[in-house]
Amino acid sequence: MKPDRPQHSAPATADEMRALRPVICYPPETLPQPDRTTMKALRGEASQTGKIVIAPRDAGCIEVPAGAFFRISSVDGPQVGDLNLWNAHDLTERFYSGKTRALHGTHLSTGDHMWSSFPAMRPMATIVDDTLDWYGFDAFGGSVHDVIGTRCDPYTGRLLSGDDYHYCCHSNLTRALAAHTGLPLHEAEAHVHDVLNVFMCTGFTRDTGQYFMKASPVRPGDYLELFAEIDLLVGLSACPGGDCSSEHSSDTAACYPLEITVWDPGESARNTHQVPQMNPYSGNHGVG
Ligand SMILES: [Zn+2]
Repeated sequence: MKPDRPQHSAPATADEMRALRPVICYPPETLPQPDRTTMKALRGEASQTGKIVIAPRDAGCIEVPAGAFFRISSVDGPQVGDLNLWNAHDLTERFYSGKTRALHGTHLSTGDHMWSSFPAMRPMATIVDDTLDWYGFDAFGGSVHDVIGTRCDPYTGRLLSGDDYHYCCHSNLTRALAAHTGLPLHEAEAHVHDVLNVFMCTGFTRDTGQYFMKASPVRPGDYLELFAEIDLLVGLSACPGGDCSSEHSSDTAACYPLEITVWDPGESARNTHQVPQMNPYSGNHGVG
């Protein structure tokens, strides 16, 4: 946080510097655009082939093949979810929240990609429908589906409260990934990463730049639907914060289940989808 009383005096040109207009770092027009026509055709042929219900304060994993869709739905009551994505064949390729934020902004919606980590750095999934797109940004600068938070975890909780709490999203995702893959818990934990905060309403305070949350506007029936650009392993935690209106990392908030359904147009239709190639950067890093 910035100091109330800075220790260094401002230069004479301070106001001039502050008045400079910002420049968008990564204009989205220069990014590869989603192939909406193909995705729409595939969605039209898709039928539901899979479903998991994630219990409150727990997580689940499900595989989604490239060219299929998955829908995260609110059921029973307002609930936020912490989403991890992995390449189903290589867990080291995983969702890169920070780069996705740099490319698409702090909060995602329809048309945005979820990008993977280096060196693959390619679209893993594309958002194709978002029933909360009406929310936009509120007067506090808050919005839904952020890529600015990390995930609630027992380590931060321990530092802040002195207690061990085991049903944070980080631990939920660790248990679910270990159960799905058969990896030991400590190996699974290393693959859990910063999330897309599905349905969560968050922002940064205008005056101090602090991360804030407020009650999610999500209602039962709302959903976020994504297209799998590559073969995916999807992990989702139903956050112990419930709608995140007051706190997380405890058992006090009202929590509800979340549902993931998989919508598959069939193998031959899926094969018409061109899986994004690994990033073509040489990997040389200036050596040799
Ligand atoms: Zn959480």
